Amino acid sequence: MELISHPALAELHPTFGHPESTERLDVLLRAFPDFREAGPAKVEDVLRCHSPRVLDLLRSLDRPVYIEPNTVASETSYEAALLAAGCAIEAARSEAFALVRPPGHHATPVASFGFCLLNNVAIAARALQAAGEAVRIAIVDFDVHHGNGTQDIFWDDDTVFYASLHQQRIFPGSGGPHEQAATTVNVPLRAGSGDDEWLAAFVEWIAPKIREFDPEVVLVSAGFDAHEDEDLYLVDMRVTEDGFRELAKRCRALAPRVAAVLEGGYNLDALPRLVEAALEGFS
Ligand SMILES: [Zn+2]
Repeated sequence: MELISHPALAELHPTFGHPESTERLDVLLRAFPDFREAGPAKVEDVLRCHSPRVLDLLRSLDRPVYIEPNTVASETSYEAALLAAGCAIEAARSEAFALVRPPGHHATPVASFGFCLLNNVAIAARALQAAGEAVRIAIVDFDVHHGNGTQDIFWDDDTVFYASLHQQRIFPGSGGPHEQAATTVNVPLRAGSGDDEWLAAFVEWIAPKIREFDPEVVLVSAGFDAHEDEDLYLVDMRVTEDGFRELAKRCRALAPRVAAVLEGGYNLDALPRLVEAALEGFS
């Protein structure tokens, strides 16, 4: 599977000691130097998922500010956010893996949130639809956190299926067992769950529903913060490299076309080999 990224994502949008840092892309682009560059998303791509004020706020920044307590942004964040979304669109079009930051799945229709400025995977899904490249799309999100933003964007849209596996009762607090809809599936998992629990949940709760939905494309919100060595606050999962390879393989089997967009994953030593394992599973 091809990699799509942009070297500026290892420099733009500094976060001043925050775990979602420029270093994440720096280690990835060193480990995978053979990526293909994509350009920024257009404003119209973003506006299919977000209110104009989300972009207006980012565009207006001329110094570092906290947009909300978890999300810092500054004068280069607008450019980084558009580049990340543009790489996600290109990955979705070419069945590739977008190595991008900032992540996207917590960004809601009306606000940047939870380290996320724009919802990259959602913007990519709507771009495919707008270009007539797909009608029915499934988003599978195996980041350890619930993708509240992606869920919100597509809650009333029965052409995009959203399925999430995540640790129960941590940030952002949504995605509980009763939060389900015709094209939304949430599978909260207990702290301490490892490969067996994650794969069993995928096979039992996610795969059958997506097969029934019969998407033309699966877009994966590929977060790696359920890894056993992740140190993020309150995160406590035991997924291994093999687990991510197997999750990716099972995503691959759900539709004729699959693409992935990086979400979380903050252990800089582990991140490159977890991406490598996922690439093996997707291929
Ligand atoms: Zn996460």
